[in-house]
Amino acid sequence: MSITSFHPPRRTLMGPGPSDVYSRVTEALSRPTIGHLDPMFVGMMDEVKQLLQYAFRTQNALTLPVSAPGSAGMETCFANLVEPGEKVIVCINGVFGIRMKENVERCGGETVIVQGEWGRAVDPAAVEETLKAHPDAVILAFVHAETSTGARSDAEKLCALARQHNCLTIVDAVTSLGGSELEVDAWGIDAIYSGTQKCLSCVPGLSPVSFNQRAVDKIQNRKTKVQSWFLDLNLVMGYWGKGAKRAYHHTAPVNALYALHEALVILQEEGIENSWKRHQLHHNALVAGLEAMGMSMVVPADERLAQLNLVTVPEGVDEAAVRAELLEAYNLEIGAGLGDFAGKVWRIGLMGCAATKTNALFCLGALEAVLG
Ligand code: PLP
Repeated sequence: MSITSFHPPRRTLMGPGPSDVYSRVTEALSRPTIGHLDPMFVGMMDEVKQLLQYAFRTQNALTLPVSAPGSAGMETCFANLVEPGEKVIVCINGVFGIRMKENVERCGGETVIVQGEWGRAVDPAAVEETLKAHPDAVILAFVHAETSTGARSDAEKLCALARQHNCLTIVDAVTSLGGSELEVDAWGIDAIYSGTQKCLSCVPGLSPVSFNQRAVDKIQNRKTKVQSWFLDLNLVMGYWGKGAKRAYHHTAPVNALYALHEALVILQEEGIENSWKRHQLHHNALVAGLEAMGMSMVVPADERLAQLNLVTVPEGVDEAAVRAELLEAYNLEIGAGLGDFAGKVWRIGLMGCAATKTNALFCLGALEAVLG
């Protein structure tokens, strides 16, 4: 056997994630590995927490990156906040809402579903009706930015409704963090999780999470132990807690955390509001170009995500063949439709450092050439 080193091609990633990674981030990744309890590393962890508080717009002390991808952030929220027998309202308007339901059920919770339309935001009126009909519900869970459909829900409104009905909120911000307006404290979000591989333009594999005091109180007053040892925040807090007192919990992904630190420093340098604006600007240009080519967007304009654009595949076009040719001839990746949208749409991402004028024009030009 003579397997040699792996050298991936250099692609332009304009799918649903991972997105292109800043070269400063890959450079940070290759810095020397040091011990994860080394005082230098512990100091960097404190900075990562502060930078995540900046990105989430929160003062929550319990803000940290879970050492695993976005799905682990999702499980961290549900495993810690849902106790067996509790009722959780889950909004489903795409693939990731379905996963939330799975999570609740695996935690022994009972789900009440607010079924929404694919490609549309979660309907606040339907949520309000469900909250009224189920006064014993303890949590409302929804996806802020549905990557499977390109729809953005009104997290501020949904959280206000949940609070009026004494429910905690669990919000999926895997695709929204850094790309769409998101205000954890001002909107009263109780628990939130994200990913590093979308609008932060960091490598995949970490999941930033944040919990406010109401959520922490619920976790600390559980009647049952959190079923997962690895994700039990009561234990994780001992590692990500106050500097000097840090206790071994698991071996942190040291180099991946250097990468996240660098991606967040870049975000801070740009300014989070400027990052939201940049995503919107290039989204507007991409949509104008796609429409000028005769294609139509799936999501109504006021519910669209800037960073993930669902466009209908023109009649008679073999969508998989187009994606294959874009990859082969242009080293350009765009995404296929998922679930109900499989075979019918393309998902074009403009995430993180990939949200540029150059990329928007490159994608339009390549699509035009391939479609003939
Ligand atoms: N939630 C949403 C909205 C996502 O888009 C994704 C991934 O694409 C996830 C959760 C899961 O994240 P990961 O694939 O990093 O586990």
